[in-house]
Amino acid sequence: MKALAPGSVIGILGGGQLGRMLALEAARLGFDVHIFCPEPDSPAGRVSARQVMADYDNLEALTVFARDCDVVTYEFENVPVMAVEAVIDAGTHVRPGAKSLQVSQDRLTEKTFLNEIGIPTVAFRALETGDHLPEALNELGGAGILKTRRAGYDGKGQILLRDPDPDTSARAKALASEVPCILEAFAPFEREISAVVTRSEAGTVAFEPSENDHDNGILRCSSVPANTTDEVRSVAIDAGTRLAEALDHIGVLALEFFVMPGGDLLANELAPRVHNSGHWTPDACDTGQFEQHIRAVAGWPLGPVTRRFDVVMENILGPEIEAVPNAYNGADRLVSYGKRGAPDRRKVAHVTKRITLVR
Ligand code: AMP
Repeated sequence: MKALAPGSVIGILGGGQLGRMLALEAARLGFDVHIFCPEPDSPAGRVSARQVMADYDNLEALTVFARDCDVVTYEFENVPVMAVEAVIDAGTHVRPGAKSLQVSQDRLTEKTFLNEIGIPTVAFRALETGDHLPEALNELGGAGILKTRRAGYDGKGQILLRDPDPDTSARAKALASEVPCILEAFAPFEREISAVVTRSEAGTVAFEPSENDHDNGILRCSSVPANTTDEVRSVAIDAGTRLAEALDHIGVLALEFFVMPGGDLLANELAPRVHNSGHWTPDACDTGQFEQHIRAVAGWPLGPVTRRFDVVMENILGPEIEAVPNAYNGADRLVSYGKRGAPDRRKVAHVTKRITLVR
């Protein structure tokens, strides 16, 4: 694809905060952004040049949208694959393509793909019915996490099975009988890190891996540098790079890992998009993840990603937003997503705190 000239139109499927931060960076580089999103009043739509409100199965709306855009990207992995195919059928490039979505939308497909390209994960079993749960749990050593194969995020659709408890077992059995699930072995990890990489037609550039702290499945904070060895960091970056190549992915991609005692890495989850654990990059690096993604999808050269200081990024959840006007005075960098209301435990803003200057 030829490099897009400023003034070209970049379409985004999805209207959440990631779309909003992409749209703001795209506008800074001179592009017009067009948002396709089923919800009215979306965080991304409100900062973009254009928006259309329609469902992802509305072929007519997708075709018109595709023809209005010079290239289309997506900001979350649960966009139906058929929506991406409809845009491609209308003659517009989608970057990243359908394969990254297909692989990441289903935890079984995702883990199988990672293992096939030599990236280890926790052991897992696919479950078609809850009847097989006790046997599968036994095979995985007696402790595991049951997850829905599709549509889970931020720890939703997950049940921890560690200490025998009849109520939890019954809930897990019911969930596994209701929707296709995967049972993962419980990983007694030391810490969690993620690699955020950007691939363009010319090659891949990786940010330094961050260390990520979760609370009840939701990311609370990412710190850089991660408290681990250079070797662990480079294994993470190699895996992210290999994955981006295997998916023929154009744009940003994140791969989350468990760091096990002894330093082995097990991949947990991939996100075919800009990622919460990369929110520190626009402030701490020469080029942040949102600009890199826009550069990649527009066919521009990627920017340098040197980090200028140590940094901690903290998420602000739900009602915590009420403290924002008084709590942050500009010394730390605040990004607020403009969500209406303050939905409980949903991500509504983040703040990036500089720790020390890197010498
Ligand atoms: P996920 O939605 O798969 O990213 O899971 C959210 C968080 O739950 C992870 O970041 C971990 O903190 C925890 N978790 C998920 N899967 C496992 C596992 N197999 N073993 C231990 N902890 C897990």
